[in-house]
Amino acid sequence: MMVPPETAAPIAPPADAEDLATGPWGGSGGAAALTAPTPPARLRAPAWADTAAAPQPGERCSTCWGRWWWSERDAPRRGWRCWCCIPAPAGLGVRECET
Ligand SMILES: [Zn+2]
Repeated sequence: MMVPPETAAPIAPPADAEDLATGPWGGSGGAAALTAPTPPARLRAPAWADTAAAPQPGERCSTCWGRWWWSERDAPRRGWRCWCCIPAPAGLGVRECET
């Protein structure tokens, strides 16, 4: 016996059911989210001349990944430097910054 058309029609899945299961929202998006890399740390050069551009929290030295910076306290005309890469001369008055 053949099934009457009016009975079979509601059983048939919607035309887009397969697309919803395997489409862009079907799983590949979730996997990409799990493996997305974390943002890289903000890196700065071991030294720069702009005295107004003080190191900001979270920034690191691009050479040694250091987080301590210094600049002349009384005459900060030469910018900021990484403590590890370019140590301050002994006896020099400095201002320090930890990021
Ligand atoms: Zn450094």
